[in-house]
Amino acid sequence: MTTYEELLNHKNSHLEEEVRRLQESVNILEQRHQAMVTIHQMIEFLQVCAKIEDTTKLLAEFLQRLFPGFSGSVFLTDECNRIFERVTSFGKKTDNETSLEFSDCWALLRGQTHIASNAQPGLFCHHIDQEAQPTQTICIPLLTQGKVWGLFHLRTECSEKISCYQKHLAHTIAKHISLAFYNLKLREELRNDSIRDGLTGLFNRRYLDEYLKQEIIKAKGNQQPLSIVMVDVDHFKRFNDTYGHDVGDMVLRELAKFLQGQVQESDIVCRYGGEEMTFIFINTPLSIAKQRAENICSGVRELSIQNQGEILSSLTVSLGVACFPLDGTTGEEILQRADRALYQAKKAGRNRVVLYQLEQ
Ligand code: GH3
Ligand code: MG
Ligand code: MG
Repeated sequence: MTTYEELLNHKNSHLEEEVRRLQESVNILEQRHQAMVTIHQMIEFLQVCAKIEDTTKLLAEFLQRLFPGFSGSVFLTDECNRIFERVTSFGKKTDNETSLEFSDCWALLRGQTHIASNAQPGLFCHHIDQEAQPTQTICIPLLTQGKVWGLFHLRTECSEKISCYQKHLAHTIAKHISLAFYNLKLREELRNDSIRDGLTGLFNRRYLDEYLKQEIIKAKGNQQPLSIVMVDVDHFKRFNDTYGHDVGDMVLRELAKFLQGQVQESDIVCRYGGEEMTFIFINTPLSIAKQRAENICSGVRELSIQNQGEILSSLTVSLGVACFPLDGTTGEEILQRADRALYQAKKAGRNRVVLYQLEQ
């Protein structure tokens, strides 16, 4: 016969068990609430980032908080899905996983989440560093509008099985990262469209004006010279008439590529309009600008541009150079004077460099 005391003891231990279970549930709820707060914070931070590179460190922090005991990486790919470059990673670093190919990952190949464990090591993706002895891995493709353009990868060396909650969390995070990166990419593209010329990819005139304004202020403050070189293709109309407008476009692209190769550090080259390009050489006196303009002039002369196997007739350019503060006190003045010098170069027979001179 059970005594009253025994019954009480039994009930008590039952109650204790209930309390323990309730406490466990409270703890789990608390953890999930914390995870929600962390996700919220992460989204807020991602929204104010201007570039994908700005997200690298903060994303690693948040991911480590959300997935304790895990290591992981986020990879992004280019338009053709060839190479997936690691943009961020957290936990134990594996240097051989800085990039991967589409065919290295089952999740990318199958277009769906891939979970593997050391119970069947043959199912680990090729990009997994097996020397790090992972017990379980999750790979989730980052998808936006049906297109795969990234990968979220998690791995752990713990023996505990990845829970349904952790899998769910990983999917939620992959969705948020996907969306945030997609927005950042769109924003970058929009920004690029507004400051770059569509044909040549060089900066446009709007960007030149802004940049010049800022750089003149800096040059004044630092008492440093700034030179502007205006470049115009000689007889380009003839070129179009001979080969056609499309070939003319291709020539402008090739020329732009060459000119872009001539810029150093914080210098820029812009498409001023038509077949006219402008260099801004920061902290460069007239004598150096002249030398660089001469090099550009001879470099263009030596360019060999082909169209469908045919070498096109050689291209020449005329260049006008003016320098701050020698030739003027505002960006506009220096631009006008470089243009004036360019006009003189044309008048003097083209294919040459002319420096601005007051008496012109
Ligand atoms: P000059 O040596 O005096 O500069 O002679 P030019 O023929 O280069 O000068 P002009 O100003 O008479 O003609 C410029 C030509 O550049 C005419 C125009 O069709 C061509 N051009 C301007 N922008 C483009 C472009 O985007 N693509 C192509 N194919 N041609 C262009
Ligand atoms: Mg011209
Ligand atoms: Mg012109």
